[in-house]
Amino acid sequence: MPEIQVLSEDVISRIAAGEVIERPASALKELLENSLDAGARSITIDIEKAGKALLRVRDDGRGMVPEDCRLSLTRHSTSKIRSFSDLDRLSTFGFRGEALYSIAAVSRLDITSCRKGKTAVGWSVKTEGGRVISESEAPPVPGTTVEVRDLFFNTPARSKFLRSDPSERSHLLRAAEECALANCGTAFHFRADGTEVFSLPHCANESLDSVFGRARLVLGKTAAEGLLAAASEPLGIKALASGPGSMVATRGAQYFFVNKRPVSSRTLQQALYKAYEPFRANGKHPACVIFIEIPPDEFDVNIHPQKRDVRFRNESAVFKAVSSVIGERLLKERRPVQIIPAVENSGTGAPGGVFEKSEGYSPAAPPSFTPAAALEQELPIMPESSGGPAWYNPPFRFLGQLEKSYLVFESNGGLLLVDQHAAAERVIFEKYMEQLSAGATGVQPLMLPVSVDLSPSQMENSMRWKQWLSSAGFEIQQFGAGTILLHSVPAVFDFGPNDLREFLERLSEILGDPEKCSEEVKRETVATLACKKAVKAHDHLKAEEALRLIEDLRVCKDSFTCPHGRPAVLSLSRAELARRFHRPGPPPK
Ligand code: ADP
Ligand code: MG
Repeated sequence: MPEIQVLSEDVISRIAAGEVIERPASALKELLENSLDAGARSITIDIEKAGKALLRVRDDGRGMVPEDCRLSLTRHSTSKIRSFSDLDRLSTFGFRGEALYSIAAVSRLDITSCRKGKTAVGWSVKTEGGRVISESEAPPVPGTTVEVRDLFFNTPARSKFLRSDPSERSHLLRAAEECALANCGTAFHFRADGTEVFSLPHCANESLDSVFGRARLVLGKTAAEGLLAAASEPLGIKALASGPGSMVATRGAQYFFVNKRPVSSRTLQQALYKAYEPFRANGKHPACVIFIEIPPDEFDVNIHPQKRDVRFRNESAVFKAVSSVIGERLLKERRPVQIIPAVENSGTGAPGGVFEKSEGYSPAAPPSFTPAAALEQELPIMPESSGGPAWYNPPFRFLGQLEKSYLVFESNGGLLLVDQHAAAERVIFEKYMEQLSAGATGVQPLMLPVSVDLSPSQMENSMRWKQWLSSAGFEIQQFGAGTILLHSVPAVFDFGPNDLREFLERLSEILGDPEKCSEEVKRETVATLACKKAVKAHDHLKAEEALRLIEDLRVCKDSFTCPHGRPAVLSLSRAELARRFHRPGPPPK
């Protein structure tokens, strides 16, 4: 007597259902996707007892002819693919052709549908545990209604695993919310036990504005309030994400979509957090609604029966694209660090030290102290101009230098302090990076080549970079066993011979195998290192140079920090000064 038996169709169908339909929310998700695939403009969802007693989805989509209505419930029946190769090109949501079959296997499911058209006939099929009980003609109302009662009535084990009603209800809501966020062109109405939970009219278009309108209703006002919009056309990314000051307490308000399909992806989540890295969030999390549009064969969603986990063919490209779109948007919101007076926080007060005189300005002037107007003339003032980062608040007047390191400006009646080293590093870094990416590095030949003595391994390492370094403006040549000669440097840098020696030594230590290093890492490493060496602190700056520096800094992509992340500017606005000195309002100018 053989021990192996072939399972009955009934058992097979319930096992299959277990893979696809885990809880009421997974059934709802499948039904909603079917309605959207059918081009629905309006979808009404009714649930009773958290979907355990009833789950009904009614749509005004294209509907089915009676024959299709019957066929839709059989396994692997689908109108969406014909052959295996179609799988890669698929842009609809469902494609396994087993959702209706699976839901029907574990519930009492009725489907009523009518195809749009003049000779339309409505048709209704009643089933129980996957078996058709009756079929009949139905009123010719175009669209489809699927009614799922007593989910898991014949699989008690699964039914026991369901959570409490509030918990299952929140899963159902999340599924509906995700669909609603990704499909603004469709109206969504959600009723639970006869009471309306939300009603979202359809939007005229699927723009970020429309999504924002929906996000206010879906994410709630708190999370939606500070959302910033960012988009990157060529990469097909549209995003709403919390402003730096509007993060929320949990990760719950993060929604990711790939080709409108809600997905989970560590890559996407990490990209999001990467963008927020500069804004230490004190345990708070960004809210977001992020859409990515990419060709279907660039990602794979088939690795999970719930079709949620997504893998991208090029994970790192997606990571970079998402983190930079959001990161760049966030940078625009960045505010300069506020000066906190010593009484409030003794550790971080304004830098102490001697107030250095700048060229041509003498605070301890002779007794015939020049009239104010003449003094103003002596101090260059930057004219008012609009645009720029938040710290850029003209007109500027250069007041002087502190410890030959910090530049002090009057800034529209307030105070601006600039770390001249950090600021110059940032300016040179961005100029150089720009030249590198454009493949147009200005080169400055050295009158006398600088020689650098290196160890054999440093030497070997450096020579492997010869070609790349040359394209980056550094022309090196081996000279004997342990010496390198440097013949040229990029024109943006102002190196002294010792700086160059240190630069090359350091470079030969940190550069790895050029083959394994991405172009971007190479550039960043070399540029960051070169800037550090090229900029001199404790330089005495003239007023014109100081003003030039803040103008150069103004046009930087990130003008708030040096390439290593140290702050470059500190500001105290006119209003803030007035507040701190307990004046009623900003003093008259
Ligand atoms: P799939 O969506 O993977 O094709 P389903 O079991 O979810 O498989 O649905 C089977 C078929 O039934 C679909 O391909 C579609 O033709 C049809 N169908 C299901 N739901 C609807 C609906 N709401 N409106 C129109 N057709 C539908
Ligand atoms: Mg489907």
